[in-house]
Amino acid sequence: MSLEEDVKMHTRRFEAGLPVFYGEACSLCGRNEGFRVHDCRPRTFRLLRDGYVWIVRSGIWRWRCLACRGCFTDYPPLPCRTNAL
Ligand SMILES: [Zn+2]
Repeated sequence: MSLEEDVKMHTRRFEAGLPVFYGEACSLCGRNEGFRVHDCRPRTFRLLRDGYVWIVRSGIWRWRCLACRGCFTDYPPLPCRTNAL
C-alpha cells in the first residue's frame, strides 16, 4: 500500500471513530496490552503528489494504560505534523 493510501485509511478510521494502535507497548511502563482510548487529537498529514504538497486533516489517538494509569500518544508511522492546524 502506498503512503497516500495509508494516510487515507488512517483518516477514514479516525473519522469513523475506529481507533488504531500502532505502537507495541506503553511508552511509560512498557506493557504491551491493556489500553483504552483516552483522547483524539487533530493532526495533519503532508503528502507529496504531482509536485504539490497535499495537506490531509486527520487525527491521532491518545491511550490510557490500565496498568500504570499513564496517557501516551501513539504516533502512526506516517508523516504527521507535531502540532494541529
Ligand atoms: Zn503503562
